[in-house]
Amino acid sequence: MAIKAEYIWIDGTKPTAKLRSKTRVLPNADKIPTWGFDGSSTNQAEGHASDRVLDPVRVVPDPIRGGEHILVLCEVLETDGTPHESNNRALLREVAERYADQESIFGIEQEYTFFKGSRPLGFPEGGYPAPQGGYYCGVGAEEVFGREIVELHLDRCLDAGLAICGINAEVMPGQWEFQIGPVDALTVSDDMWIARYLLYRTAEEFGIDATLDAKPARGDWNGAGAHTNFSTKAMREGYEAIITACESLGATQEKVLEHVNQYGDDIQSRLTGKHETAPWNVYSYGVSNRGASVRIPWQVEVEQKGYIEDRRPNANVDPYVVTRLMINTCCEALEKAGQV
Ligand code: ADP
Ligand code: MN
Ligand code: MN
Ligand code: MN
Repeated sequence: MAIKAEYIWIDGTKPTAKLRSKTRVLPNADKIPTWGFDGSSTNQAEGHASDRVLDPVRVVPDPIRGGEHILVLCEVLETDGTPHESNNRALLREVAERYADQESIFGIEQEYTFFKGSRPLGFPEGGYPAPQGGYYCGVGAEEVFGREIVELHLDRCLDAGLAICGINAEVMPGQWEFQIGPVDALTVSDDMWIARYLLYRTAEEFGIDATLDAKPARGDWNGAGAHTNFSTKAMREGYEAIITACESLGATQEKVLEHVNQYGDDIQSRLTGKHETAPWNVYSYGVSNRGASVRIPWQVEVEQKGYIEDRRPNANVDPYVVTRLMINTCCEALEKAGQV
């Protein structure tokens, strides 16, 4: 029987890329062909020669359509087979390959916010809800908004076989989080993009918009981040490597800015030094410190091994970019220090 294959790709919209998808009916799932699209409608081409290529890189069951139907995550290529400039996955592949021996793994915490019309879900018409305090991991109709969407999204991520490992309600009404990991850089990133796709599609069914905006409500409300938890084999085995990784991320101000400038649009509005953040341009790390750029979880200090959490990436960061930067910076430093 014919199957529906939903080809999903990341477009060239700046400053924050959007997901695109379209359906192809295939005789079966044995062969998933490359496909094409009009790059001039996705900020991936100008003028006449606007054909771009969709190269399938990850196929999972489609939990929305069910049956034998599939989701097909793609890289975008030029017609000559080289990666399109919007294709951050291709850049990650190279760096992940170069440092493969260090066995990097990641867990990313994706925060996001539901909007109904122009207001976050749970914000009353023309006013504000009670201040932050009871919403984080909240229970009950006064505290929690959109749980039916979140539960359905979780089920769908599991049905698709994604490495989703948890969900929680966040600090602002209508704000939630899911976590993907701990898995290698390409898997965490592919799964994150597919999970985002499923989030948008699931919320769409409820007439709700899910946004990854870094500061969806101005004022005294938490922003939305994508804390990126990271370890290499050496970090999972000893504390010296944990410290080397933390130091490398702040080695120079240039290094700090190289990361922060690629950690998602509007990062300065979110990393203010308030609302459990460190100022965007001042690097710090500390044990158990949720006001630092990078946190060493308390149990990592106790056990003298484990992982670190870079708290700076925005919700709207591209996971292919943040994982590439962290591998590049930390693995290079670990290699130089002979701690591999
Ligand atoms: P927080 O207390 O910051 O809210 P979460 O429970 O939301 O923490 O997320 C912790 C993340 O850390 C999870 O995504 C998990 O996959 C990840 N993680 C756990 N162990 C490791 C590890 N050794 N290396 C990398 N990531 C890890
Ligand atoms: Mn979390
Ligand atoms: Mn969180
Ligand atoms: Mn966190």
